[in-house]
Amino acid sequence: MRALRLTAWGEPPAPAEVERPVPRGGEILVRVEATGLCHSDLHVMGAVPGALPYRLPFTLGHEVAGRIAALGPDADVRVGDRVVLYGPWGCGACDRCAAGRDNYCDRRDTLTWHGAGLGRDGGMAEYVLVPSARHLVPIDGLSADQAAPLSDAGLTSYHAVAGLRHALGEDTTTVVIGVGGLGHLAVQILRATTGSRVLAVDVREDALALAERSGADFGTLVRADTARVLRARTGGAGVDAVLDFVGTTQTLELAVGILRPGGELAVVGSGGGRLTVYKPGVLPPGFRLSLPFWGTRPELAEVVALAGSGAIHVETERFPLSAAPEAIDRLRRGRVRGRAVLVPD
Ligand SMILES: [Zn+2]
Ligand SMILES: [Zn+2]
Repeated sequence: MRALRLTAWGEPPAPAEVERPVPRGGEILVRVEATGLCHSDLHVMGAVPGALPYRLPFTLGHEVAGRIAALGPDADVRVGDRVVLYGPWGCGACDRCAAGRDNYCDRRDTLTWHGAGLGRDGGMAEYVLVPSARHLVPIDGLSADQAAPLSDAGLTSYHAVAGLRHALGEDTTTVVIGVGGLGHLAVQILRATTGSRVLAVDVREDALALAERSGADFGTLVRADTARVLRARTGGAGVDAVLDFVGTTQTLELAVGILRPGGELAVVGSGGGRLTVYKPGVLPPGFRLSLPFWGTRPELAEVVALAGSGAIHVETERFPLSAAPEAIDRLRRGRVRGRAVLVPD
């Protein structure tokens, strides 16, 4: 079968012909229908040797939807069922993994993989081998190009919003910084699951248009006076929460500058920015900071249900798997609208 393999750190992945895996034990073989292309794929392929614990080569792709094609003798699921992969694979033995919280696996630091396409063979291929049924969530009739991005873009946004939901009742305001593959879903999830107004910030006009289509109440470009513009939208009080999908020093400083006392900042984007915490200081009193990472398996089922009900819709651009190099290039240049999805051809 065809697969897009990472064979050397710092080099683009290469198409290769590999053997179709045969499931053993509790393993499941899934025929891939669609795989999302994520910014973290760029980080993985661009990593310097030694930066990640993964062994080369492996097939990329951690946002995967497809149909169960074959089972190991101990796998208790049905051939033919359509599924999305729960992407973060932990040790499978700790309390966190047992609770479907592989994203916060206690043994993460000791693993040589972090999931499908992240040190283990992923979904940029005709088939993907899944080690356990606990990594599968049924999608029924949901289209594969909608379902695949839910496993990271959707789940990560959902998990980040879930961590703030207690603070987002009626008459609250949330700012979403960065309206790309994740941000446009965060806007929709905020609208569907909280009472909050949603303000959006981006450096691109077309991202603000996407924010508006996603249900944001207001959008603004990053400018010298963005903090003032956003505060004015709350009558000067400041906002209740900020979801930062960029995570640069500039966006962290913007976030801190617009939060009201007791405000919450969730940093989702891995932009490498720094925020200095000191007290007393410029941070609002009662300020709370979180660094949500990916999400849990129960949350993936919730976000799939939300998509199934029509409450959220992923904006996608489809590419055949053979055109992955073009999709990767477009993503690198910030030219993908919403999420790029690769479909085996
Ligand atoms: Zn990702
Ligand atoms: Zn674990």
